[in-house]
Amino acid sequence: MVLVYSDNKKLVFEMLNVAVELGKNTKKEVIAVIIGKSDESLAREYISYGADNVFIAETNFETFKAEEYTDILSKVVEETGADTILIGSNKNGKELSARLGGILNAGCVVDSNNIYIKDNNIFAERVVYSGNAIAILKFNSKPAIITIPPKAFDPLKKDEKRKGEITKKKIEAEKSQSKILKVQELKSEGVNVEDAEIIVSCGRGFKNKEDIKLVNDLADVLKGKTVGCSRPIAADLKWLSEDHWIGLSGHKVKPKLYIAAGISGQIQHIAGMRDSGIIVAINKDPEALIFKSADYGIVGDLYEVIPKLTAAVKEKMG
Ligand SMILES: Cc1cc2nc3c(=O)[nH]c(=O)nc-3n(C[C@H](O)[C@H](O)[C@H](O)COP(=O)(O)OP(=O)(O)OC[C@H]3O[C@@H](n4cnc5c(N)ncnc54)[C@H](O)[C@@H]3O)c2cc1C
Repeated sequence: MVLVYSDNKKLVFEMLNVAVELGKNTKKEVIAVIIGKSDESLAREYISYGADNVFIAETNFETFKAEEYTDILSKVVEETGADTILIGSNKNGKELSARLGGILNAGCVVDSNNIYIKDNNIFAERVVYSGNAIAILKFNSKPAIITIPPKAFDPLKKDEKRKGEITKKKIEAEKSQSKILKVQELKSEGVNVEDAEIIVSCGRGFKNKEDIKLVNDLADVLKGKTVGCSRPIAADLKWLSEDHWIGLSGHKVKPKLYIAAGISGQIQHIAGMRDSGIIVAINKDPEALIFKSADYGIVGDLYEVIPKLTAAVKEKMG
């Protein structure tokens, strides 16, 4: 069995694509898991995106706690006999997968973007050394646990006619030793770069916080309205919130159009946006690394180029 779990349903849709492929190659069924309250409409959605069956592990837990969820998931693995476990690689998923690996004494590959079967073995690839190399890992034990980051795979086409079985079962989990004392929401500007189709990003080439208006204006006329940035803008200067931060330690994005202005193109930034459809770079240094990753490069001062580009797009778009 190939088992798929995430607390983020979009990630489950994406992971089902690779799960279906693995299931076909190993002649195994694909099971999507829901932990918490019974949600049959979500279960049906999982089936329409490729799951053969959905296992709803009913619990009374209101919030995610890694210890408890690991206990539940390990019981689901035992019950279903799953030998390949795909987990969405968000914060909760990473903690869950590591703990599950510990409990099941199983190997765990984090952040894989390619999984395949060769000579009856499962292989998982992951990008290492900030995108400079790809590690190919083979599992020597079962089950194989693999976490998959957002956007690594596209979901399959939704097929509402697909049929699958939904199993509901109350699973008791050992109460964790820790207690949640306070939940503090992360300060957010409500930006979602991961789902954006057009992103205009700014870097250290901007001299002042106020100048980011140039990027906002260009994003506005492109109807993308999504502004991204390099790490120094969010982490060091704090001109924008971390929602905008793109790269290895920020968000991984895959827009149709990515415009990088005043960004040098260090590998840690590229790691977050290399899968974009078309990349346009604006930089005054013709030797800037970003041009190596760009489809179109504009060598020039961003303070001159961006207003001209904004005006031209405005005219074209009416
Ligand atoms: C473990 C680790 C994780 C990291 N994670 C990330 C990450 O997730 N995301 C990330 O972005 N970085 C990350 N970094 C940092 C990364 O290595 C770079 O330091 C950072 O990306 C540089 O940001 P920048 O391109 O904005 O600035 P700089 O490298 O300073 O580049 C500024 C660019 O602007 C150009 N410029 C200057 N003035 C103008 C002008 N007027 N017009 C046009 N161009 C101009 C310059 O030519 C230059 O190329 C990480 C680093 C480490 C070690």
